Amino acid sequence: MNILLLGSGGREHALSWKFVQSPLCDELYIAPGNAGTALCGTNISLRVDGDFEAMEQFCRDKQIHLIVVGPEDPLVKGVYDHFDEAHKTNPFADGWLGVIGPSKYAAQLEGSKAFAKAFMERHNIPTASYKEFTDTNFDEGREYLMNHALPVVLKADGLAAGKGVIICNNHLEAVAEFDMMIHQHKFGDAGKKVVIEEFLNGIEVSVFVLTDGKNYCILPEAKDYKRIGEDDTGLNTGGMGAVSPVPFADEVFMQKVKERIIEPTINGFSEEGFVYKGFVFIGLIKVNNEPYVIEYNCRMGDPETEVVIPRLKNDLVEMLVSTAKGEVDQIKIEQDPRFAVTMVAVSGGYPGDYIKGYEITGLNQSTAETVIFHSGTIAEDDKIVSNGGRVLTVTSFGKDVAESVARSKQVLEGIRFMKMYYRSDIGYEFMGTN
Ligand code: ATP
Repeated sequence: MNILLLGSGGREHALSWKFVQSPLCDELYIAPGNAGTALCGTNISLRVDGDFEAMEQFCRDKQIHLIVVGPEDPLVKGVYDHFDEAHKTNPFADGWLGVIGPSKYAAQLEGSKAFAKAFMERHNIPTASYKEFTDTNFDEGREYLMNHALPVVLKADGLAAGKGVIICNNHLEAVAEFDMMIHQHKFGDAGKKVVIEEFLNGIEVSVFVLTDGKNYCILPEAKDYKRIGEDDTGLNTGGMGAVSPVPFADEVFMQKVKERIIEPTINGFSEEGFVYKGFVFIGLIKVNNEPYVIEYNCRMGDPETEVVIPRLKNDLVEMLVSTAKGEVDQIKIEQDPRFAVTMVAVSGGYPGDYIKGYEITGLNQSTAETVIFHSGTIAEDDKIVSNGGRVLTVTSFGKDVAESVARSKQVLEGIRFMKMYYRSDIGYEFMGTN
């Protein structure tokens, strides 16, 4: 079968790497991809930002059977619906399976925090208590904030590239942020509506589910490290590393996650008639041993994919075919029992300003235990150069977190580009505990 994968990060390199291990994968195209995905398939330059006409033409020309979407943006903009409609009016190639992902309506679970909160409320899924406000009830919102326990969490309703969540420790600061979102359009249209939420104090873990809208299977869980600096200090980033499995997500906890969160979520999809054939990434927080949902994402995470996918022993293409056909109940997940740790190398300055175009050397070090996934890289003549803030990520297996980290570090020490930086403390809280 021929597959088109959308995206250009480490997540997409990890997915491509896994797809080409499947005997079911014939041609793989990645739009736009990076220098790593080019080693697995053919990179193509296509607009994937909401104008889906050119993508549709490409799929007809190349007899594509399955579209897999890495990032959220095309899903929130309705890529699923576009292709579903297009197929009904003018069918794609024989064996067409469709888009892996939710419909535009269901993608609001990620695209609108108020939509996700209301969904959780309807299905009694544990989450922080909240209220939503807009310009029309601003005064009520200010009153609500002034009387809220501290810290308090303010969230721009729409997508804000990970920057739309603000945790405030003082009421006046909270009201000022609220005013900036609603009246000064700090996050543009994304902040026209604001969710004000109770602060939950706990440890975070991400759970990944593949669903066809009725059935589900649970993939390996992961923990990511968002801050730029060691000991979780400094600015938030797209993610500096990840660990899987997560030692504190033990059997008892995961059973609670399954019963109280995953099952009501998928039953909710089914009861409400959501069209959803894809990944659900559930951001959880463990408070006094109880799981609460922080957020839903309607795709895999980056860098979590770079530890989740290598730990998956199943044929991922076969799993996605089952998903598209509504047969997720046929999937029996097999996980590699070893630990996987990924460590992200970034360009100095990230997540602020940084320079692109530095030559990268030392990329040919993959072993049986270690894989190098490219993120922001591009091939120029016979060189690979940096092309983004997060440049690459090194995933290693080990019998414990410490061994995995040691292996990734050893490989990172052999990789060079100017101003390269990585956090060497990924998995620090699990050292020596497993
Ligand atoms: P954006 O929409 O801007 O991309 P996001 O989807 O990353 O943001 P969330 O995942 O909802 O936003 O929140 C980001 C982070 O803020 C979480 O990973 C968590 O660390 C923290 N956070 C969010 N909500 C809460 C809460 N209720 N209590 C404590 N921490 C929270």
